[in-house]
Amino acid sequence: MKFAQRILAVNPSMTLAIDATARELKARGEDVIGFGAGEPDFDTPDHIKQAAIEALNKNDTHYTPVGGTPALKNAIIHKLKSEQGLEYSQDQILVSCGAKHTFYNLAQVLWEPGDEVIIPAPYWVSFPEMVGLSGAKAVIVPGLEPNDFKMTPDQLRSAITPKTRAVLINSPSNPTGSAYTRSELEALAECALKHRLLILSDEIYDKIVFDGFEHVSIASISKEVQDNCVVINGASKGYAMTGWRIGYMAGNADIIKQATKFQGQSTSNPCSISQAATIAALMGPQEPVRRMVEEFQRRRDFIVQGLSNIPGVTCYKPVGAFYAFPNFSALYGKSWSGGKIQGSLDFADFLLKEAKIALVPGIAFGADENARMSFAASVETIQKGVDRIAKAVHSLTD
Ligand SMILES: *Cc1c(COP(=O)(O)O)cnc(C)c1O
Repeated sequence: MKFAQRILAVNPSMTLAIDATARELKARGEDVIGFGAGEPDFDTPDHIKQAAIEALNKNDTHYTPVGGTPALKNAIIHKLKSEQGLEYSQDQILVSCGAKHTFYNLAQVLWEPGDEVIIPAPYWVSFPEMVGLSGAKAVIVPGLEPNDFKMTPDQLRSAITPKTRAVLINSPSNPTGSAYTRSELEALAECALKHRLLILSDEIYDKIVFDGFEHVSIASISKEVQDNCVVINGASKGYAMTGWRIGYMAGNADIIKQATKFQGQSTSNPCSISQAATIAALMGPQEPVRRMVEEFQRRRDFIVQGLSNIPGVTCYKPVGAFYAFPNFSALYGKSWSGGKIQGSLDFADFLLKEAKIALVPGIAFGADENARMSFAASVETIQKGVDRIAKAVHSLTD
């Protein structure tokens, strides 16, 4: 079979693959502990599920407007105003089938071969692939661990060429859990505006922040920044609604118009029932979210402490999201029965075989010294996992 070059150039999602391997091993009866999951382990709150049931009973089962129902767009406008202080109108919102779909739509309408898009590393695995699918080139800027993996304005400036069209900001970040402060965002925005770059701000983890950290949307810095920014968000992470597939963008009406046209000829509207449920999520009580975040914070403290206690392992303390991103590079060069560990792929393979631990090698995110461990797992599971890692690491030889 002949396939298009477009798809042959795409790498499959390593996070999804590792999750699938862990599930498969478990199904075969192996006692594997999976830290690969990219989703909350909580159930969708009841009042949201109830809204979906009501939508079904009211026969809300037909096509909706392509870009989302006016009622959901209003709920999104309300959320962005009350939580980020941003004002938008209906023609500045597009609802899609998940924030991944939102970014895909943007890539398809904004870029083509010859364009460059700046992506700070460590990055979410799908960003470079979706930029690649548009024909544009992903330019990777490596955020350094001593700077909490964050891109500096100087790094941004050095990556800009006459071909650069946009820069991506993902705060809080998947996979590192680090997040930009207002003043850091101000400096990045100033640089982006000066070079006429569009800013894409993925804020899917805006609600999952710890120790009172204030999430700031880069779009809220000034009207000028807002006009040059597309905010991306969705229901998946904050409301434990990954399966419902609702994401959205807010930005310049011309971009929304083209992206809506693209969606109208590809996927059409997102699921009508999920849209009704998302209104309940955005407008209803936020208490379930607070409880979930509290529990994530407890687990974060636990996993960071546990990992840091293992000789040869260091672990940045994330301020948001639900991932730890420990650094295992001091163990590279050591050996086990399977050979010498040369990088994060080898290390993940070693842990899967020796300790029955599934985690995602950092190389998938453009950071080979680290690995991602989701703490969307109970404290007992985390404890067991950390103990196994400690034991396996202890068995390594020079
Ligand atoms: C999970 C995730 C998304 C998208 O999730 P959807 O389920 O498609 O809404 C987008 N960006 C980042 C950084 C993520 O981690």
